[in-house]
Amino acid sequence: MKRLFSGIKPTGDLHLGNYLGALKQWIALQEDYESIFCIVDYHSITSAYEPNKLNEYVLKCACNYLASGLDHVKSIISLQSRIPSHAELTWILNCITPKSWLERVPTFKEKAAKQEDNINLGLLDYPVLMTADIILYKAEAVPVGEDQLPHIELAREIVRRFNTTFGELFPEPKGIVGKIGRIKGLDGADKMGKSLNNCIFLNETKDEIWRKLSKAVTDPARIRKIDPGNPDVCNLFSLHKLMSHEDKIQEVREGCTTAGIGCLKCKRWLTDSIDKELEPIREKYFQYLQNPNYVGEILVEGSKKANLIAADTLEQVRDLIGFNYDFIK
Ligand code: SF4
Repeated sequence: MKRLFSGIKPTGDLHLGNYLGALKQWIALQEDYESIFCIVDYHSITSAYEPNKLNEYVLKCACNYLASGLDHVKSIISLQSRIPSHAELTWILNCITPKSWLERVPTFKEKAAKQEDNINLGLLDYPVLMTADIILYKAEAVPVGEDQLPHIELAREIVRRFNTTFGELFPEPKGIVGKIGRIKGLDGADKMGKSLNNCIFLNETKDEIWRKLSKAVTDPARIRKIDPGNPDVCNLFSLHKLMSHEDKIQEVREGCTTAGIGCLKCKRWLTDSIDKELEPIREKYFQYLQNPNYVGEILVEGSKKANLIAADTLEQVRDLIGFNYDFIK
């Protein structure tokens, strides 16, 4: 079985964008790959954060992983900061990665523009840490969004440089881009994200989902209920296509284009569809959340397993880069 690595930064509760864009794909892939799903907390400190919130964020992220269907028996569910090799390999890779490669990464430019007063080295180095995350496990498959593909390309370049400099050790990772693509938020403009306040969290009740959807942006040209709409330009129709049954999707298209239904009815239907899929996840989420020690044990066990693989790889790296001093036993 090929190995797969992926992770999400713990910044609080996960949302529908995380679920559709990452978790759902991971759940399917864990059947075919030896998978490592990591909570990448080193990545979450490259922007301003509150240290006393991380405990809650990591716990909630783990509860969301498990409640969505990641199987800690079949796969490894780990916590990055409990596996020191991630940071150690990053340093080694830093020393073979030209700064110019990192400066051209589009997400660095975007993030630097957003946090001009905090352009720290971690922000620039993020793709090297991501490379270390992947290759520590010699993972060949990395499920990513399209916006992450430049990072995978960079990881491949770093791997090539390492292998040609020190000797063949790492396979070049490949990005697996899901079919779903970018999930827009309820503003219909930006990618769904917690910081933009345009998301539906996985643990929200049906009433909360409805409250958010009732205010969501639809086809901007559809002013009145009697105006026919164009579902193909409406973000909520995109969500229907991901969450609703085929018959309902057809009913929405027909009702929208003929002005047979209003947007509120359409939003009610979408609320039903989203709630139907999220209800069992929500239930399990709260069960896990009430058992933090059990969730902690799963992370400790997963991190131990990950550590064994990572430490073995790092030993091979140490040998290759000349850290195997024969007078020190
Ligand atoms: Fe969008 Fe539905 Fe309104 Fe059509 S009826 S514009 S698909 S919300």
